[in-house]
Amino acid sequence: MEQKLYELQDMVKVGCGGCMGCSSCCEGMGDTIIVDPYDAYRLTEGLNLSFEAMLQNGLLSLHVEDGVILPHLTMNENNRCVFLNDAGRCSIHESRPGLCRIFPLGRQYKDGRIYYFLLDECKKSGKVKMKVEKWIDTKQTRVNEQFLLRWHDYIKAFRGCAKEKIREEGGETVMKQKNMLLLQTFYFTPYRDDFYEEFEERLNYMENL
Ligand code: SF4
Ligand code: SF4
Repeated sequence: MEQKLYELQDMVKVGCGGCMGCSSCCEGMGDTIIVDPYDAYRLTEGLNLSFEAMLQNGLLSLHVEDGVILPHLTMNENNRCVFLNDAGRCSIHESRPGLCRIFPLGRQYKDGRIYYFLLDECKKSGKVKMKVEKWIDTKQTRVNEQFLLRWHDYIKAFRGCAKEKIREEGGETVMKQKNMLLLQTFYFTPYRDDFYEEFEERLNYMENL
């Protein structure tokens, strides 16, 4: 059966009453909670820490997949997110990354648009219907979606390039340099006031290289 897809104005059964007594999606996630540049910006603002400091303090880690290095939330030795407090609550709720905000929805990128689908990992019973846009709790939702589309396409192309390059002699070194440039451009260099405008400038710069 084909998965039902939702858009921002659709109603979907996700309201889980503030997750009271449950933190299962903050545990055992390994390196899957990838942090995009907007997430990193939101974290640096919310925690008043630079991206570099978050790496040094073990709040974020770097992970290589298909030749692309991207940051993700760190899980501690008990395989719990480092931001999960002793009461089982998210200690950075206002600044949590996009993937945490949408759960138990996943994103599907299709025909230049973003659709959402319901994951069945959240077992909380009695969930209520909510509008997708309200659930994902992100300012300027549509601008954010445009950013996500741009970032998704860029990383997809970058991954494609990495796959080809690493087959070539010396390709691994080239990809290492490209990854360092990517991290420097989109993560290590602080954003000033308008994240989206500045992201676009940086993306254009990288695409023209
Ligand atoms: S699994 Fe569901 S109820 Fe539990 S923390 Fe995640 S979203 Fe909340
Ligand atoms: S950042 Fe918060 S919501 Fe996201 S996995 Fe960690 S504790 Fe859970």
